[in-house]
Amino acid sequence: MKRLFLKAGKEKSLLRRHPWVFSGAIERVAGEPAPGDSVVVCSSAGAFLAHAAYSPASQIRARVWSYDEAEAIDAGFFRRRVAAAVALRRGIPGLRGAASLRLVHGESDGLPGLVVDRYGDTLVAQFLAAGADAWREAIAEALLAECEATRLYERSDADVRALEGLAPRSGPLRGAFASAELEIEEGGLRYVVDFAGGHKTGFYLDQRDNRQLCRELAHRREVLNCFCYTGGFSLATLAGGATSALSIDSSADALALARRNAALNRLEGAEWLEADVFAHLRKLRDQARRFDFIVLDPPKFAPTAAHAEKAARAYKDINLLAFKLLRPGGMMMSFSCSGGVSADLFQKIVAGAALDARVDARVLRRLGAAADHPVALAFPEGEYLKGLLCQVV
Ligand code: SAH
Repeated sequence: MKRLFLKAGKEKSLLRRHPWVFSGAIERVAGEPAPGDSVVVCSSAGAFLAHAAYSPASQIRARVWSYDEAEAIDAGFFRRRVAAAVALRRGIPGLRGAASLRLVHGESDGLPGLVVDRYGDTLVAQFLAAGADAWREAIAEALLAECEATRLYERSDADVRALEGLAPRSGPLRGAFASAELEIEEGGLRYVVDFAGGHKTGFYLDQRDNRQLCRELAHRREVLNCFCYTGGFSLATLAGGATSALSIDSSADALALARRNAALNRLEGAEWLEADVFAHLRKLRDQARRFDFIVLDPPKFAPTAAHAEKAARAYKDINLLAFKLLRPGGMMMSFSCSGGVSADLFQKIVAGAALDARVDARVLRRLGAAADHPVALAFPEGEYLKGLLCQVV
């Protein structure tokens, strides 16, 4: 029997159903589990706490599969968890008709280390922890059986795999792939998704609701979209009647796809600029340019709380500059997808930026990821995306 025994007093977070066991909580390991093996996590007194996946290379030494002692961790387990994730989304009115959505959101769907996005009949999966990686074949079978999809592509090339001692891996897992991209439709707009080479699984599905919101707000507005990637927010604002949208990104590949997306939808008024946002916002300030609607959706500046301070400076910098570029009555949608920056801290940073920019601004709405990215209450780390819709007076 493979077991982890926790140090005395270290069982508290598992009892509160937080699914991670950190290395420092472990007293001893019995039975020589290999990476990804299922282990029973026990209290120091030997009582059952959870079934978990062992990951000797990671600081997160084990991730919980189940708190039910009687539950076997086998192919049937993965089939049930995938089915539950699919059912959850079917039960959310706003998602029922969505052809593209997140089907499995890791820990929050009871499947630690597994992310699966659906783009029509194509699934794209990321196996990001040792346990999910070890069960890759069973999970692939479960996904095809439960998700009405014909093919599955693997994008296990995120940096976090290195922390688990896993090498990057990507390519077709099930079905045939003649091309590395596909086309999706969202709210009547068409987007090309580079599922083989794009960020994450190719598209920022988490911003679906926020794209819709900015579409509703952009009428007759001059838009600046910073960190535009393949143009999600740019297209949404133009479709909503924005007079123009200047979009900035440092990636030429992302911008090439953004241009194709604008053409695909016959949208006019888009200007695409390959530049560093930090430098270019200063340029726009020096040119006394002004906008009515600004989107700031930067990459993750703080993957963990340890990077929070440096990240806070970066967020403050771009938010301050953006506030200065807004006309009176102008709106800003500002995001942070940093796990290490809480919603509370983010709001403080944005407030500080407004103060230093000498603008009076108010929050109209708090923003987050769409409902296909649920957050288990016991797992606040799942709430990575937070945003504010602000308006300056
Ligand atoms: N808003 C996008 C997702 C943004 S992802 C969407 O909704 O689809 C972050 C983007 O920031 C990436 O495309 C990356 O190329 C870009 N990026 C990262 N650092 C940058 C910088 N300093 N200046 C400009 N773009 C940057």
